[in-house]
Amino acid sequence: MKNARLRLVSAFAALAAAIALSLAACDEKPIAPPAIDGELAMKYAQGNFDLGPKVFRTEGAKKSAEWIVEQARMIPGFDKVGTVRIPPSTHGEYNVEIMFNGNAPDLVVIGAHHDTKRLFSVPEFAGANDGASGVGALLAMAAAITESAQKKLPPCTIRLVFFDGEEALYQYTETDGLVGSRAYVDMLRGEDGIDRFRAMILLDMIGDKDLHINLAGNSTPALAKVVISEAKAAGYADKFSLGDTDMLDDHYPFLQAGIPAVDLIDFDYGPDNRYWHTGADTMDKISAESIKTAADVALRVVWRLAENGFKDLKK
Ligand SMILES: [Zn+2]
Repeated sequence: MKNARLRLVSAFAALAAAIALSLAACDEKPIAPPAIDGELAMKYAQGNFDLGPKVFRTEGAKKSAEWIVEQARMIPGFDKVGTVRIPPSTHGEYNVEIMFNGNAPDLVVIGAHHDTKRLFSVPEFAGANDGASGVGALLAMAAAITESAQKKLPPCTIRLVFFDGEEALYQYTETDGLVGSRAYVDMLRGEDGIDRFRAMILLDMIGDKDLHINLAGNSTPALAKVVISEAKAAGYADKFSLGDTDMLDDHYPFLQAGIPAVDLIDFDYGPDNRYWHTGADTMDKISAESIKTAADVALRVVWRLAENGFKDLKK
C-alpha cells in the first residue's frame, strides 16, 4: 500500500517534470520574426530620397551612407543590441553595415543598394523606388529587430548591408556596377571567412505601389522556394512569383562566392517599365504597404531558415 502510494507520487512527479520540460521547450521555440512598420519604412525612404542624387563616387553617395549610419544610431535602444559602420572603402564605395548578433553564429545578409543611377538627362534624379525603397526597408528592419532583440535575440546573426555603386556609371562590366557588393564579398573572403554566411537576401525596387516581386531567375532555387512559401504564409502569395529572368544585381557576387542568394525585385515599374531610371521614379509611385510586404517576407525567411538549421540551401 505504502509502496503503491509512493509509486503514484513519483508518477505525478515525473508527469510534473515532463510538463515543466515541455513548457521550457515551448519557451525555447524561435519567436515569430518582428513585423515591419510600413509607415516608418516610408519615412526612411522619404528621408533618403530627399538627400537628392546619390551617384557612386560622388559626395551624394557618401552623404547617404553617413545619413544611414545616423538613422541607425537614432533608433531607441540600438546601441545595446546592434552596431553600425561604414566598412573600409577599397574602390571608392561607401557601403553601410548594420549588425545584430543572434543566438547562433550562422550569418544572413539582407542587402539593398543606396546609390542612385547617374542620369545625364535628369541630373536631380534621386531614385524613390530604385534606391530609397530598399533603404527604407532595411532601416525599418533595423528598428524592428532592435525592438524585438531587447526581449529575445534573433535566431542567427543578421547583417543589413546598404551597397554603394550598384548602378553602372556607364554600363555593366567587371568593374562598372555592383562595385559595393563585390567589394563587400571580397572583404568577407578576407576577414570573416565565407563559411558562416548561410544566405543572402537582396531587395531591389520593392516600393512600387503596384507591387509584384518576380524573383530573379539566377536566385538559388532552394532559397527562392523558402521566399515563396513565406510570402504565402504571410498572406502575400499574389505579390510574389518565381521569375525566369536572370538579374545582374547585388546578389550576384554572393552567388559567385558560393553563398545561396535570392533577389527580390519588381522589374516592372510603371507602364512598360517607364518609371525605371527616369525622372518619373518619384515618391508618389511607391507605398508603405509595398515596402512592408517585401521587408516582412525577408525577415520571415531569416527566421524560417534559422529554425530549419540552414539545411539543404545550396541547391
Ligand atoms: Zn537602378
